[in-house]
Amino acid sequence: MSGGNHHVGYGTGMMGDARRALVSRREALRAQGASEAAQLELRDVEEALLRIDAGTWGRCLKCGGAIGRDRLRAVPDAHFCLPCGR
Ligand SMILES: [Zn+2]
Repeated sequence: MSGGNHHVGYGTGMMGDARRALVSRREALRAQGASEAAQLELRDVEEALLRIDAGTWGRCLKCGGAIGRDRLRAVPDAHFCLPCGR
Protein backbone atom coordinates (compact mmCIF):
# COMPACT_ATOMS: atom_id res chain seq x y z
CA MET A 1 0.00 0.00 0.00
CA SER A 2 1.69 3.19 -1.08
CA GLY A 3 -1.04 5.49 0.16
CA GLY A 4 -1.60 8.55 -1.95
CA ASN A 5 -2.60 12.08 -1.25
CA HIS A 6 -6.33 11.66 -1.10
CA HIS A 7 -7.03 9.71 2.03
CA VAL A 8 -9.15 11.45 4.59
CA GLY A 9 -6.87 10.89 7.53
CA TYR A 10 -8.38 7.85 9.19
CA GLY A 11 -4.91 6.47 9.82
CA THR A 12 -3.30 3.26 8.80
CA GLY A 13 -4.46 1.48 11.97
CA MET A 14 -8.10 2.05 11.22
CA MET A 15 -7.59 1.29 7.54
CA GLY A 16 -5.75 -1.90 8.46
CA ASP A 17 -8.64 -2.98 10.67
CA ALA A 18 -11.16 -2.22 7.94
CA ARG A 19 -9.03 -4.05 5.38
CA ARG A 20 -8.86 -7.15 7.57
CA ALA A 21 -12.60 -7.02 8.18
CA LEU A 22 -13.28 -6.65 4.46
CA VAL A 23 -10.94 -9.46 3.48
CA SER A 24 -12.56 -11.90 5.89
CA ARG A 25 -16.00 -10.75 4.78
CA ARG A 26 -14.97 -11.39 1.18
CA GLU A 27 -13.88 -14.92 2.05
CA ALA A 28 -17.17 -15.55 3.87
CA LEU A 29 -19.18 -14.27 0.92
CA ARG A 30 -17.21 -16.37 -1.56
CA ALA A 31 -17.82 -19.43 0.58
CA GLN A 32 -21.51 -18.61 0.64
CA GLY A 33 -21.77 -19.19 -3.06
CA ALA A 34 -23.75 -17.55 -5.77
CA SER A 35 -26.85 -16.09 -4.17
CA GLU A 36 -27.71 -12.72 -5.63
CA ALA A 37 -27.43 -10.95 -2.28
CA ALA A 38 -23.99 -12.43 -1.67
CA GLN A 39 -22.82 -11.39 -5.14
CA LEU A 40 -24.03 -7.83 -4.63
CA GLU A 41 -22.35 -7.51 -1.26
CA LEU A 42 -19.20 -9.12 -2.63
CA ARG A 43 -19.02 -6.41 -5.26
CA ASP A 44 -19.29 -3.69 -2.59
CA VAL A 45 -16.64 -5.37 -0.46
CA GLU A 46 -14.24 -5.72 -3.38
CA GLU A 47 -14.78 -2.12 -4.37
CA ALA A 48 -14.09 -0.98 -0.81
CA LEU A 49 -10.81 -2.92 -0.86
CA LEU A 50 -9.84 -1.23 -4.11
CA ARG A 51 -10.68 2.11 -2.56
CA ILE A 52 -8.43 1.39 0.42
CA ASP A 53 -5.55 0.61 -1.94
CA ALA A 54 -6.28 3.67 -4.05
CA GLY A 55 -6.41 5.94 -0.99
CA THR A 56 -10.00 7.04 -1.59
CA TRP A 57 -11.58 4.88 1.09
CA GLY A 58 -13.66 6.81 3.61
CA ARG A 59 -14.77 9.44 1.15
CA CYS A 60 -18.37 9.70 0.02
CA LEU A 61 -18.78 8.85 -3.68
CA LYS A 62 -21.59 11.33 -4.03
CA CYS A 63 -20.57 14.50 -2.19
CA GLY A 64 -16.85 13.80 -1.70
CA GLY A 65 -17.08 14.42 2.04
CA ALA A 66 -15.71 12.19 4.78
CA ILE A 67 -18.00 9.29 5.62
CA GLY A 68 -17.15 9.34 9.31
CA ARG A 69 -15.29 7.04 11.63
CA ASP A 70 -18.26 5.55 13.44
CA ARG A 71 -20.04 4.69 10.23
CA LEU A 72 -16.89 3.20 8.70
CA ARG A 73 -16.29 1.07 11.76
CA ALA A 74 -19.83 -0.24 11.54
CA VAL A 75 -19.87 -0.49 7.73
CA PRO A 76 -16.33 -0.66 6.30
CA ASP A 77 -17.71 -0.97 2.78
CA ALA A 78 -19.90 2.14 3.01
CA HIS A 79 -19.64 4.20 -0.18
CA PHE A 80 -21.76 7.14 0.94
CA CYS A 81 -21.97 9.37 3.97
CA LEU A 82 -25.10 9.14 6.08
CA PRO A 83 -27.02 12.03 4.45
CA CYS A 84 -26.22 10.74 0.94
CA GLY A 85 -26.90 7.13 1.84
CA ARG A 86 -30.48 7.84 2.78
ZN1 LIG B 1 -22.12 12.35 0.90
